[in-house]
Amino acid sequence: MSGEMDKPLISLHLVDSDSSLAKVPDEAPKVGILGSGDFARSLATRLVGSGFKVVVGSRNPKRTAGLFPSAAQVTFQEEAVSSPEVIFVAVFREHYASLCSLSEQLVGKILVDVSNPTEQEHLQHRESNAEYLASLFPTCTVVKAFNVISAWTLQAGPRDGNRQVPICSDQPEAKRAVSEMALAMGFMPVDMGSLASAREVEAMPLRLLPAWKVPTLLALGLFVCFYAYNFVRDVLQPYMQESQNKFFKLPVSVVNTTLPCVAYVLLSLVYLPGVLAAALQLQRGTKYQRFPDWLDHWLQHRKQIGLLSFFCAALHALYSFCLPLRRAHRYDLVNLAVKQVLANKSHLWVEEEVWRMEIYLSLGVLALGTLSLLAVTSLPSIANSLNWREFSFVRMPRCVATSSAGNTDSGTRRPEFQSQDPHLRALHHQTSFLGSQSFCCSLVPVSTPYGH
Ligand code: NAP
Repeated sequence: MSGEMDKPLISLHLVDSDSSLAKVPDEAPKVGILGSGDFARSLATRLVGSGFKVVVGSRNPKRTAGLFPSAAQVTFQEEAVSSPEVIFVAVFREHYASLCSLSEQLVGKILVDVSNPTEQEHLQHRESNAEYLASLFPTCTVVKAFNVISAWTLQAGPRDGNRQVPICSDQPEAKRAVSEMALAMGFMPVDMGSLASAREVEAMPLRLLPAWKVPTLLALGLFVCFYAYNFVRDVLQPYMQESQNKFFKLPVSVVNTTLPCVAYVLLSLVYLPGVLAAALQLQRGTKYQRFPDWLDHWLQHRKQIGLLSFFCAALHALYSFCLPLRRAHRYDLVNLAVKQVLANKSHLWVEEEVWRMEIYLSLGVLALGTLSLLAVTSLPSIANSLNWREFSFVRMPRCVATSSAGNTDSGTRRPEFQSQDPHLRALHHQTSFLGSQSFCCSLVPVSTPYGH
């Protein structure tokens, strides 16, 4: 483990011949870390790699020193907090009180709270860990930061998906100092305001795909309904009426018949809220009125619903490819051939059937291709690389492919929201971004609570 932790990260000039992190220049800013656990080790490695001088405070420095990069100084807690102005508190909340003996040395310093509560702790405590730390050390400035970054990410280096570091504090200067450190370490600081936001910041790692919950339940619900219907139609009815045993169809055939039904309904649910929103605006005669909450939530979930539709369509394609591989299909073919021989027919060719299948397959492939294009352009990295015109251009084929869903979107630019209130403007900006990231923008391209 220590070998891994000693690997060079950013500053190659800090690496000595045996690939461990070597001495940091004396003029480098000094940062303290309290605790010597997983997070403290990764943080120390990254800070050293980013050009900082690091001093680690441990209750037992002898035991832990070997786990840290050689450039980091590992010492007792009292000594570690004496000189740095910024000190990371890499210990759990329940151990904060044990640090109170350091109160005198910590006067006027910046304490960075990196802790994450468990779900139970989050519900149990009304005040955030950072606010609790601030109450224990009233002479210090507490900054909440880095809790959304795992020890692994710190060690491996920031990657695209997890570069953002939400930061909050009651002291703008302290916040700025920690933000600069985050930038130096390769992360992207995001100002979350005062320390009162710490509870919200601490809740971030506890979330489990909140935007996907309702769309996934919806897709599952639709799947169950359509599956039940197809089961009754294709399996139960033949069994009841003609005593035919077709239960073998349950794992593949019925699933394959169900998937496109779910995909179609989900796709129509991507477009329907846009149409409803447009109708509502026309009926109200204004775009400056809030949409009802249910419609607003629906509009904001279009991307997820669209991607689930694509997922079902892709599964349908895969299942369809597998259909001829089944034993049942081979037996059917052989039986058909035998029947043909018995009926003394040498050439079976129904022109209409042939054409129908060719067109059916071709349209299916084209529809899946179009849907794939839409799914790909909904990826933030791709959507961000397109300007509005390019984005609209890529979305054009959708109008043809889904005209049955009532979409007449011409890809016109949305009107700019003009408000004197900076909060409203920021909200508009944020929600406009969400709208543009939508799987497919709707007839009225808004997903904001305001119908502008
Ligand atoms: P850990 O490996 O268990 O380390 C905790 C450290 O706390 C110990 O190594 C210990 O160091 C120190 N400590 C100080 N006073 C203590 C006391 N009275 N009793 C026990 N230990 C005490 O935990 P961790 O994973 O590094 O997490 C540390 C903090 O970082 C937590 O608040 C956690 O929520 C946060 N965090 C962790 C991660 C992660 O990926 N691990 C990610 C984000 C945030 P000494 O024995 O040297 O004093």
